Amino acid sequence: MLKIDNLTVKYGQLTAVRDVSFEVEKGEIACIVGPNGAGKSTTLLSISGVLNPSEGDIILNRGKISGLSPEQVANYGVTQVPEGRHIFTSLTVEENLIVGAALRSDKKAISEDIAKVVDLFPILGERSQQQAGKLSGGEQQMLAIGRAIMTNPSIMTIDEPSLGLAPLIIDKVYEALIKLRKESGLTLLIVEQSAERALKAADKIYVLRNGEIKLRGLSSNLKGDDISKAYFGFDER
Ligand code: ATP
Repeated sequence: MLKIDNLTVKYGQLTAVRDVSFEVEKGEIACIVGPNGAGKSTTLLSISGVLNPSEGDIILNRGKISGLSPEQVANYGVTQVPEGRHIFTSLTVEENLIVGAALRSDKKAISEDIAKVVDLFPILGERSQQQAGKLSGGEQQMLAIGRAIMTNPSIMTIDEPSLGLAPLIIDKVYEALIKLRKESGLTLLIVEQSAERALKAADKIYVLRNGEIKLRGLSSNLKGDDISKAYFGFDER
């Protein structure tokens, strides 16, 4: 469904992502794991059209999306939950969800999707009229994911959903993502610093470090030791 082909992304002289290739199949949960500065966010920002790769292609369902604007990429059904959530803090929970559906006109499906979000995250239903800025960090993360669902995506990218959250809340967020994939068949590409979380949730894992993929495989086949070596670069010291 999504194919990243020899992607290289630079910030001026600095090469943040070098010759990275990977694929995400329809209905799959794929995780990019790696330490700080590995190039994970850069990869996601390139997929969503915010950054322009200097080399390589990003292909969605056989069509090239690299080089398109973020709006065009979004129109192809690629939605992102950015690091730090970026919800509209002065709007209510419900208004944030409605903003997510701003480009849609299918009213019935929009209300069904609101019901789907509330089923996934019941707290958002309870707090629907509350100002989003007053939600806890975990609730804001849920709202950011809910708003992304409201765009009716075919693939969702999520940048560090566990950032700054307590373990119990992270469990809830991941349970919801797994349920979402199971019930809606949504394809997910998640960036995560915690390899342990990634192993639990993902079908497939890519370990990124220093802008390069150091290890790849099905989570069921990967050993924790090999992931640690690739993640921390033990073999190269
Ligand atoms: P983290 O887990 O800390 O968010 P990351 O794996 O997402 O890290 P990136 O944010 O993609 O890593 O950064 C990759 C490299 O690019 C780092 O060396 C970072 O300092 C650099 N970088 C990121 N954004 C910019 C920018 N806007 N300008 C210049 N360099 C940048």
